[in-house]
Amino acid sequence: MAFDYLIVGAGFSGSVLAERMARVAGKRVLLIDKRPHIAGNAYDHHDEAGVLVHRYGPHIFHTNSREVFDYLGQFTEWRPYQHRVRASVDGQLLPIPINLDTVNTLYGLKLSAYDVEGFFSAAAERCEQVKTSEDVIVNRVGRELYEKFFRNYTRKQWGMDPSELDAQVTARVPVRTNRDDRYFTDTYQAMPRHGYTRMFERILDHPGIKVMLNTTFAEIAEEVSFDEVIYTGPIDEYFGYCFGRLPYRSLRFAFETHDVPQVQPVAVINHPNEQPYTRVTEFKHLTGQVHPKSTLVYEYPQAEGDPYYPVPRQENAALYQQYKALADATPGVHFVGRLGTYKYYNMDQVTAQALTLFAKLSGRPRAERAQGGGVLA
Ligand code: FAD
Ligand code: UDP
Repeated sequence: MAFDYLIVGAGFSGSVLAERMARVAGKRVLLIDKRPHIAGNAYDHHDEAGVLVHRYGPHIFHTNSREVFDYLGQFTEWRPYQHRVRASVDGQLLPIPINLDTVNTLYGLKLSAYDVEGFFSAAAERCEQVKTSEDVIVNRVGRELYEKFFRNYTRKQWGMDPSELDAQVTARVPVRTNRDDRYFTDTYQAMPRHGYTRMFERILDHPGIKVMLNTTFAEIAEEVSFDEVIYTGPIDEYFGYCFGRLPYRSLRFAFETHDVPQVQPVAVINHPNEQPYTRVTEFKHLTGQVHPKSTLVYEYPQAEGDPYYPVPRQENAALYQQYKALADATPGVHFVGRLGTYKYYNMDQVTAQALTLFAKLSGRPRAERAQGGGVLA
């Protein structure tokens, strides 16, 4: 059988492109994944106890892009959900992002929103240029809060000190002077009502899309006939690591089911300091599932294993640029997604990136970009 596109990876980027190519452009698509399931890292399923869990850690959907929200909304109903996280610090569960209540509870103070700005300013160590993930936080709230909430979490998560990581990593977490304790403030915050995997099943439900699981690119490339490749796996792997390996950070997930309906007050508790894990997630807060039992997942960062996080550092960006130049000079192969473009992108960003690539390949303009919107960093 001959295909127009061989798409490697059935996560957000590969699946969105498969859908657009088949449904809008009328192409014949073969979508493969080496894993035994679709949905990439967003894959969810019911565990042995019947609790809906995310196999690769908590995935919370949030975006400012109406285009992305509406696009995915064709394939799922949404369940409104505002994410809240607490950090376990000095024996207390405190709001993170750091806000007015974090400071007042931690120090037994009664500061107002106005006072707390002065509190942060007095503690802040101003740096001329905010370059690293240490600079971002120390420059805003000072060293003490940095050490309690950020330094050790980041060391665990990334295996290096925040001073060795680009500013964009800790800049993902804002600092607030009000009492807003939501993790995100995006316009659209919601979870797919029947889960991510169900949404992906609907994205891929088209006669022009053939899905092959448990199949690597290396296994299939010589066996089928296709015109072009869209590749969402690691770009360095595609090119046989010819310039050396791009570093990725991995995680080990430890699931635990409890015989009670609820264990934690909020979906996620971050553990910046004493524990070997970084955070613990109780899925039922995210999914809204009603069930007599509850499953939690502990995240243990590690160097080896599936590549989950590109590591934002200048030297890694420079190495990626070498691969990108090679990719640009390789006809018929298009790289996209978190691994294909080595970008620390959220789900909405990879969806937007996939829609942009579709617009480029098909010659059909993207509605929102034409209006100046968009979610790419
Ligand atoms: P992936 O989902 O990684 O899909 C790539 C697929 O390609 C994989 O399924 C892989 O098996 C397959 N593949 C790779 N190489 C090959 C090969 N050679 N042959 C065949 N198949 C191959 N984003 C959010 O917006 N909100 C969150 O709360 C959030 N939480 C996250 C938590 C964790 C722990 C992690 C790791 C990520 C989180 N993300 C979150 C980010 C989100 O997972 C990504 O943005 C998104 O899944 C990227 O989609 P993708 O299609 O680019 O890549
Ligand atoms: N971070 C931290 N303490 C926290 C939360 C986050 O030090 O309590 C840092 C850490 O380096 C983390 C980064 O901020 O990797 C981004 O946090 P986010 O919650 O966005 O991480 P993700 O969900 O992508 O793993």
